[in-house]
Amino acid sequence: MTEKMTAPKIDRLTAVKGMNDLLPPDSAAVEWLEHKVRALMARYAYRNIRTPIVERTPLFVRGLGEVTDIVEKEMYCFEDRLNGDALTLRPEATAGVVRAAIEHAMLYDGPKRLYYLGPMFRHERPQKGRYRQFDQIGAEALGFSGAEVDAELILMATALWQEIGLTDVRLEINSLGQPDERLAHRQALIAYFEQHLAVLDEDARRRLHGNPLRILDTKNPHMQTMVEAAPQLLDCLGKGSLAHFNALKSILDANGVAYRINHRLVRGMDYYNLTVFEFVTDRLGAQGTVCAGGRYDYLFEQLSGKPTPAVGWALGVDRVLELARTSGIGPVNPVPDAYAIVADITAMPMVLAVLQTVRSLGVSVQMHTSASDLMGSMKSQFKRADASGARFALVFGSDEVSAQQVTIKPLRDAGSAQITCALSDIALWAPTLQSSI
Ligand code: ATP
Ligand code: MG
Repeated sequence: MTEKMTAPKIDRLTAVKGMNDLLPPDSAAVEWLEHKVRALMARYAYRNIRTPIVERTPLFVRGLGEVTDIVEKEMYCFEDRLNGDALTLRPEATAGVVRAAIEHAMLYDGPKRLYYLGPMFRHERPQKGRYRQFDQIGAEALGFSGAEVDAELILMATALWQEIGLTDVRLEINSLGQPDERLAHRQALIAYFEQHLAVLDEDARRRLHGNPLRILDTKNPHMQTMVEAAPQLLDCLGKGSLAHFNALKSILDANGVAYRINHRLVRGMDYYNLTVFEFVTDRLGAQGTVCAGGRYDYLFEQLSGKPTPAVGWALGVDRVLELARTSGIGPVNPVPDAYAIVADITAMPMVLAVLQTVRSLGVSVQMHTSASDLMGSMKSQFKRADASGARFALVFGSDEVSAQQVTIKPLRDAGSAQITCALSDIALWAPTLQSSI
């Protein structure tokens, strides 16, 4: 008796919604940006810090503030299955950096300039420029109180836009003052919003007494006019806060950095004070903020550290790259310097040894391979070599192999002649091969 076996249906596995695979050649753009950022950070003497992707949940609840979008609804939280610890995939990196600075007493010998790159996680509605896993690059200056470091960070970001060729980025700045000044402003705001209860949406009503400042951040068009006429924090700022803001502005002015003062710029996290800023563009629709930051002089205390002034920014890698792409800027797709053509598979041990030498001298080589023991005709291999974009073919034909030689054949310059060289001399040709970029 034969029974027909039906294979159980297995659902195709796909990536989690809002978490994207980054494939070549697109991944080259991220590497290109990261490379530029590393060089830039080195020029400003910022050093790399790498903190874990998973942190304890209270770090973000205490650091970012309970009544914030991130903590209220965007965090990926889970329990450690063994000890029940409350853990969270980091939604941002500043809190982790400050935790590490406190934990390792990093500032014992003075302030520190740090930068990071890596993935962040927020449970948001995925759309263009807004994902659930996204890369951020950030800079944090810990232990600095002066406006000149706020300015240094802004100038560093400006230098990055210049370096990668972005022109459509505008700077907006504001001052959030100090806690007592914000308290005075907050009371004035609550009083004002209470007079306009009918216009407030549900979100705003909920925030009215918990975090009225965030109502200024609303995207609800029906509330815009009312919000625009709300009392301004600037009128509640004391001498010190105004002096800090003025110092920042005069450094930006002296450096020819254009900015707009946006009184409604409040930022999503609770930890900011004094300077806040955003770099925005009109070319990315609703997701127009490419980089955002500010001063957070109270975060160390909030996380049980010693009072320590600090300032930083974070940029969204996806948004910066999308802006670069729409501006026609980006890396040239990488191609190998050379493509190795191999007539007979039995020559492979020797070929790989030669390629190992050439590659150790900095030449990038793509080797022809075949699914079977037959390497394919020279003609078809040359076609592949051509398609690879390489400027040279390294030809290991049967004549070459028996004479312990290799032929270097230019693929792009029709005029240049091919050269056959002894394998023992191959290192001498490495600079020629490499000059293909
Ligand atoms: P938004 O107002 O766009 O939600 P945010 O204030 O939440 O931004 P920050 O926490 O300041 O953003 O993060 C800094 C930068 O990281 C943002 O300016 C943006 O470029 C990028 N970013 C933030 N959230 C996302 C996301 N979900 N997907 C992609 N990039 C993001
Ligand atoms: Mg957000």
